Amino acid sequence: MPYRSPFYGTRLCSIKMCPRMNVGNSPFCTRHRKGLAVFGHHEGHQLVSRDLSELRRDVVMPFLREHADAPATVAALAACERIAIIPGKDAEFVPWGGGKKLRKNPERLLHRELVRLQHPPGKVRRNPGHDTVKQVGPLTALEVLAEILCVWVNVWSGGGRNLPDDGKSLTYAIGHRIFALRPASIRYSVWIEGKGQVISRRMPGGQAARLLGERLREALKPYLGQAYPLLEERRMAAALQQNHMRTPLRPPKPVTAEPEPTPSPVIAPRPLAPSPAGPPAVRPMTAEERRLAYLRDREEEARRSSQSS
Ligand SMILES: [Zn+2]
Repeated sequence: MPYRSPFYGTRLCSIKMCPRMNVGNSPFCTRHRKGLAVFGHHEGHQLVSRDLSELRRDVVMPFLREHADAPATVAALAACERIAIIPGKDAEFVPWGGGKKLRKNPERLLHRELVRLQHPPGKVRRNPGHDTVKQVGPLTALEVLAEILCVWVNVWSGGGRNLPDDGKSLTYAIGHRIFALRPASIRYSVWIEGKGQVISRRMPGGQAARLLGERLREALKPYLGQAYPLLEERRMAAALQQNHMRTPLRPPKPVTAEPEPTPSPVIAPRPLAPSPAGPPAVRPMTAEERRLAYLRDREEEARRSSQSS
């Protein structure tokens, strides 16, 4: 059993308001620890291809087609080729990366992913009688650049809703999106009644995603800087076109003459409640009256005490 520090023995997760307990010697719960390690931020998460598909189709791909011959795009594609494509061609090469063990060596983790992207596994299509294998080609520089631009526009124009921040989280997200362009190897596959086939794939490491994201951001900085305003223009044009559809289809009702003002029922003011009469004026007793009242009280008292005894 691994050593478990008593310091972290029974503690809540260090993230504010998180109700879960920490795990192992980590100050975080399982969810926040995974977020930090794999996505670069404890609230980080995967960007899904489906969320980027509209951007890719309507904004990024038309942009890249229009500026395909521009020297800036050619240079950006060359940088993508150099960073994300060429190292993966050589499957035999093992980067040194400080000589650390595989899981602590981001260079080697990244090389494994780049090799996979260049030698993607075939996809089996199950057909009764004859199964076919669909071969997907190796990843290209154009796909890499398009994916980076999709992630960039999605995060920058999302108003901070799509990722926790546009620093580390965005770097990790770029790496993970590129790794997801080709299927990873299958960890297990099961058939669940009522749900069908469930395939679990190996999750690429966070360190590899960070390294690739950092390299690409660093190399493409000038290109992203000048491409973003143009992409945002295109996105706004598409959004504006959609906004025109919000004009009402049915003509508004014709305005008739001013209707007779209905006499509003006059609400009578509530009658004032009779003010409670002040305490009745008491005439001060004269000395004689006070003496008689005193004697009456004494008599009353004497009679009561004689009755009780
Ligand atoms: Zn937590």
